[in-house]
Amino acid sequence: MIFSHDTEQALLSIVELVNSSPERNGKEQLPDVATLDEFVARHRVSEIAGLTERDVHDVHSLRERIYPIFTATSDAEAATFINAIIATTPVTPRLTDHDGYPLHMHYFIPGATLAEHLAADCGIALAQVVAAGEQERLRSCEAPDCSEVLVDLSRNRCKRYCDARTCGNRLHVAAYRERRRAAAAS
Ligand SMILES: [Zn+2]
Ligand SMILES: [Zn+2]
Repeated sequence: MIFSHDTEQALLSIVELVNSSPERNGKEQLPDVATLDEFVARHRVSEIAGLTERDVHDVHSLRERIYPIFTATSDAEAATFINAIIATTPVTPRLTDHDGYPLHMHYFIPGATLAEHLAADCGIALAQVVAAGEQERLRSCEAPDCSEVLVDLSRNRCKRYCDARTCGNRLHVAAYRERRRAAAAS
């Protein structure tokens, strides 16, 4: 594991959140309270109940503020975006061992909304990546027609596509056809 378990979980939820935007893949993946509820359950976001349309709106605007962190061209630029997210959300660092998990840090304030919760805890997770000198692990998919983001949690930093089965495989097939065409022409 590259980062702590909590940090990696937070990073994976951020990636799904950012890629849920119609700006990334053309289809809104979190259009309503029901899909947001599923997101919360899937990522085991704690202390969240009674979501409303307001939460949907706030989470949509948060993900657009997180996106530039993945396209930043330097760690200083990423740090500016991350600091801006953390600065606008209330944080209360504390240790907790809820739901049978070992002691770990929470940063959101008790009673936080979903957007506040994600801004605090995901903001700190992103800050830890940059503070560890690992900003280059936060990237965009390399497929030319894909604008999804990814976090590379592989030891040798070899992840290039948002999803190896879709973008990675699609490019693999395209490169193979290109080689065959080149071979046939020569
Ligand atoms: Zn927790
Ligand atoms: Zn992709």
